[in-house]
Amino acid sequence: MLSQIDWMKEVLARKEALIKDTQNLLRIKSVLDEEHSAPEAPLGEGVKEALQFMLDLGEKDGFTAKNVGNLAGHLEFGQGEELLGILCHVDVVPEGDGWTSDPYGAEIRDGKIFARGAIDDKGPTMAAYYAMKIVKELGYPLNRRVRMIIGTDEESNWRCVDHYFENEEMPTFGFAPDADFPIIYAEKGIADFDMVQKPSTANSESGIEVVSFESGRRYNMVPDFATATLVASGDMSPFVKSFKAFLAEKGLKGKHDMNEGKLVLEVEGISAHGMEPDNGKNAGIFLACFLADAGIDGNAARYFGFVKKYLYQDSRGRALGIAYSDEITGDLTLNAGKLSYSKESGGALGFTMRYPVTTDIEKTKETLKATIAKEGFVIEGFSNSKPHHVDEKDFLVQTLKKVYEEQTGDKAELLSIGGGTYARSLKSGVAFGPLFPGREDVAHQKDEYMMIDDLLKATAIYAQAIYELVK
Ligand SMILES: [Zn+2]
Repeated sequence: MLSQIDWMKEVLARKEALIKDTQNLLRIKSVLDEEHSAPEAPLGEGVKEALQFMLDLGEKDGFTAKNVGNLAGHLEFGQGEELLGILCHVDVVPEGDGWTSDPYGAEIRDGKIFARGAIDDKGPTMAAYYAMKIVKELGYPLNRRVRMIIGTDEESNWRCVDHYFENEEMPTFGFAPDADFPIIYAEKGIADFDMVQKPSTANSESGIEVVSFESGRRYNMVPDFATATLVASGDMSPFVKSFKAFLAEKGLKGKHDMNEGKLVLEVEGISAHGMEPDNGKNAGIFLACFLADAGIDGNAARYFGFVKKYLYQDSRGRALGIAYSDEITGDLTLNAGKLSYSKESGGALGFTMRYPVTTDIEKTKETLKATIAKEGFVIEGFSNSKPHHVDEKDFLVQTLKKVYEEQTGDKAELLSIGGGTYARSLKSGVAFGPLFPGREDVAHQKDEYMMIDDLLKATAIYAQAIYELVK
């Protein structure tokens, strides 16, 4: 009986080879290297070598292999009109410092394989590959084709999938083993943009003058540090006293330093991913709030006043009039990841906005524009990646749910997130693993690893999933 295929038994029969191939893939340093870009290796040699490794492996095992512009590739088997896509990537972020063993050594300790890319995304890529191989080798008749799509630029600019889908078939449906189990079926839209203060002639600053103010470097992070440099004539001790009182009241760390007539203020916050600003403490917003009430005038006062009025303790866009929430993905969130002011160039703010799948983004944008125009700000550089969502009653979601529950014995809760996964490059796709609930997320960290038990378990889940989706 087909329903009685013991998927884990099939995985265990191939365990040694699966681990070996995973280690060999991990030993390739596939970090983006555009300095050594060549026509046949546009993203550098390492990345190309990792892609080639997968294509060679697939060819050897009898899959149809195709290199697509040296940016991506695929391995295919099966027959039929419809196509199941499995979207993986073999590029990795740089290894960074502090590793216990060689980041490209793929050493095994305590049942874990340690290497950059172990969990993101070479381990899962190999799990999905072996899953395909198992289904192929079992030889049951299939009604659809299965194709693993291998990207090489997921960690940077997604030029791999952009190029791939400009030239190749979009799968009927698919999954990306590049995030969390059980299933991420909805992802908010992601809009990054700047708000820039329009130049004003009325810049009569008296008393304290703000030379510069700066906090944060990335749209998608809550800044954990902010600094301002002020010039003042006269006694600054009352000002310093109120700064200290402010820090104490807000429970923040910070310091001040008086040097050659310049007062430098620093505030420490707590960093967090910008998709949920409430998990952090935005140092820039706090320092701006203090400065808003510090007796400064002119452009600087308008800038800090703006931050205080619209952003302080408000990550939902309520004061800006754009708050919105839906059942599928929850609240719209707004993170001020970059804040800056200087006497010469005025004030600016850089945001990432994560908006629910049912948001009317054009209307939201218009509301935002109108609100900030009254305060002398304009929007610049609005980039928008649309929300991504597969209906929960969809065959894809229902099948993966069933498979996950059968394989793990746990309930497959459907997740929605504020971040974007690789799955959003598929027309109908979800993120499906590889990180099991409760596991430490070590992607992009030192000593990145994947547990061998999880590698095997993921392979069994993917194998059954592929079979059930194409049988
Ligand atoms: Zn990844």
